[in-house]
Amino acid sequence: MTSRAIFLDRDGVLNRPVIRDGKPSPPARPEDVVIYPGLRTQLRRLKDRGFVLIVVTNQPDVARGTARKETVERINDLIGRELAVIDRILVCYHDNGDNCDCRKPRPGMLLAGAREFDVDLARSYIIGDRRGDVEAGMAAGVRTIFIDRAYRETPPAVCDHRVSSSLEALTIIENEREDEENRRPAG
Ligand SMILES: [Mg+2]
Ligand SMILES: [Zn+2]
Repeated sequence: MTSRAIFLDRDGVLNRPVIRDGKPSPPARPEDVVIYPGLRTQLRRLKDRGFVLIVVTNQPDVARGTARKETVERINDLIGRELAVIDRILVCYHDNGDNCDCRKPRPGMLLAGAREFDVDLARSYIIGDRRGDVEAGMAAGVRTIFIDRAYRETPPAVCDHRVSSSLEALTIIENEREDEENRRPAG
């Protein structure tokens, strides 16, 4: 049976980003990770409704030599443990020059997650806080929810929904799901 997924960016969606010059960057150490409050409960509710939860995160600092892969993995382990409901964390460790298929705005991580969990992309979502997240979602054919945290950078030109917090993004999915259930013909 085909499933629905929520693709979640990591920094700025699950945990607070570190802001430098108005732009978000990942926390440098596991001790610096702050997960947004209330996420675990709301993600659990959506998982109980059948959504597969897949994190898709660009971590180019590894290719740039300013972060260690092991540190990124420790932070991912911590987030996975704290939120407890995440099905998979997919990471792109490359930078632009690597020309990989996985670095957002390319859709490679979403397509890989969709293959693994037999996901119906057209009925799935991405939640992200940067233009590349939304563009990756559009390239994969999922519904896009942009969390506008007012960074000093160009926001996506278009998206299906624009919100100001992660909880708001998850509430949109929850409500749309109810709409679809209500529209389903009886019997
Ligand atoms: Mg982000
Ligand atoms: Zn990559």
